[in-house]
Amino acid sequence: MKFTDSLQTNHEQARNRFTGHTFGAVIDGETRSAADGETFAPRDPAVDEPIADVANCDATDVNDAVDAAASAFDTEWATLGGSERARLLHAWVDELRDHLEELALLETLEVGKPLAHGRADVENGLDFFEYYANVSVAQEGEYVPTGSDSHAYVRQEPYGVTGQILPWNYPILLMGWKVGAALAAGNTAVVKPPSPAPLAVIRAAQLAEGILPDGVLNVVPGSGSAVGEPLVEHSDVGKVSFTGSVPVGQQIMRTAADTVTPVTLELGGKNPFIVFPDADVEEAAATAVTGGMYNAGQSCDSATRLLVHEDVKEEFVDAYLEEIAGWEPGDPLVEGTTMGPLAYEGHRESVDDYVDVGRNEGATVLHGGGPVDEDPYADGAYYRPTVFDDVDPEMRIAQEEVFGPVQFITTFGSYEEAIEIANDVKYGLTAGISTTNPSVAHRAAADVEAGSIWINQYFGTVPGTPFGGYKQSGIGRECAQQALKEHTRTKAVNMALDEPRY
Ligand code: NAP
Ligand code: MG
Repeated sequence: MKFTDSLQTNHEQARNRFTGHTFGAVIDGETRSAADGETFAPRDPAVDEPIADVANCDATDVNDAVDAAASAFDTEWATLGGSERARLLHAWVDELRDHLEELALLETLEVGKPLAHGRADVENGLDFFEYYANVSVAQEGEYVPTGSDSHAYVRQEPYGVTGQILPWNYPILLMGWKVGAALAAGNTAVVKPPSPAPLAVIRAAQLAEGILPDGVLNVVPGSGSAVGEPLVEHSDVGKVSFTGSVPVGQQIMRTAADTVTPVTLELGGKNPFIVFPDADVEEAAATAVTGGMYNAGQSCDSATRLLVHEDVKEEFVDAYLEEIAGWEPGDPLVEGTTMGPLAYEGHRESVDDYVDVGRNEGATVLHGGGPVDEDPYADGAYYRPTVFDDVDPEMRIAQEEVFGPVQFITTFGSYEEAIEIANDVKYGLTAGISTTNPSVAHRAAADVEAGSIWINQYFGTVPGTPFGGYKQSGIGRECAQQALKEHTRTKAVNMALDEPRY
């Protein structure tokens, strides 16, 4: 275990770097207190200490932010061409890159992710901002041949003000997905950051001050009910993009129905990782562990269901257990740590409850299976990487999203059985396939119901690949040009062409 006696001092020093910094709402190009002056303090889950005071906003602040975004759209952002928008977005990306270490440290403090993974998250997010800045210049139009007496063309127009609601697991990366696409398409944005982790998002918006026109990018921190709901309800918000849990996504869709506001929903996952008998089993086991344990398993695209052909199960389990030994939790500020604490204490309790559910359903714990309770780590939200065996696909532990470092192994005997188990959940976000047979790989890629399929690798969303769910994993796509499309509406224009009179 990579725990050191310096845990408390490491984190105190890291927190002290932000003493005196104001994490307010960012509205119309300035950092403000909440209208009623309220604050809340997100906690560092590694030591369970408050990090900084944050403006605790409500509907009044949301209205101000939407007004600022609407005015910035009308007078500034919508008047620019793609190249000018791209130049401004690139200038902001340069500023963010200059502050990469600071943003990564904020993510480590607020989410608990190892510093190296915080850096990776920010770098990835910047890749997306850059991609969308480039795409903003590269947009093209559509002309429709209608005969010589008329002229027809199609315009892709921005919605105006968009509402962007973020979860806590990859704050800057997902800000890149959403805000990058929204701004490049010509919209302005009001961002609702996640309450457990609002700091990096606020800081990123502050770094746009003086670069992006005031009001183009606003961030309103506060709770889902006080800020998220009024944002979705607001009649001047033309489009909502949400990433988070299924129940909140359903609620947002219901609310958005009142104003017939289009929504993009990126929801949960319970993703299969299928190991066919002709796979490189050792390689597959290593990939499966990373797929399940990266970010302490708190990823919508985590590989949680390991479906292994019965002929290679023993070999797979041996290789898996050897690999998982490298994933013991430790201080996220210490280089080399692969897993920090979970994002907050209440979340650790919910993950632990799920592990109890699995035990009570009759599953066997092969590794881990509880919190880390040695001092001084007992105060943090640490949880041991956990894997179950003897899991029946009908069990709750096999059907419901745990969103923690918890995987299970189950076996199948035939191709058909593997596909049936893989598809027998309400989710359909991502899937892993391990096989050395290309024909099986492509057949399975077609047969598994999921928005992203990874063959002999796991994870791999780059700016040009669309990302999103089948079934209850969501509606719409993020990333790639598809996200740009989701942030525009289509207008057809037809004009009669008169016979020239001279
Ligand atoms: P969550 O509880 O659904 O919250 C997501 C965001 O919605 C937060 O900013 C939250 O604010 C806000 N919110 C809560 N109630 C709201 C309401 N009634 N109206 C409007 N906004 C509201 O999800 P989470 O716990 O942050 O994140 C974990 C979930 O996200 C998992 O299910 C995971 O699978 C999913 N996820 C999906 C993807 C994907 O791309 N498919 C990516 C990452 C995560 P507060 O924080 O203030 O509650
Ligand atoms: Mg929540």
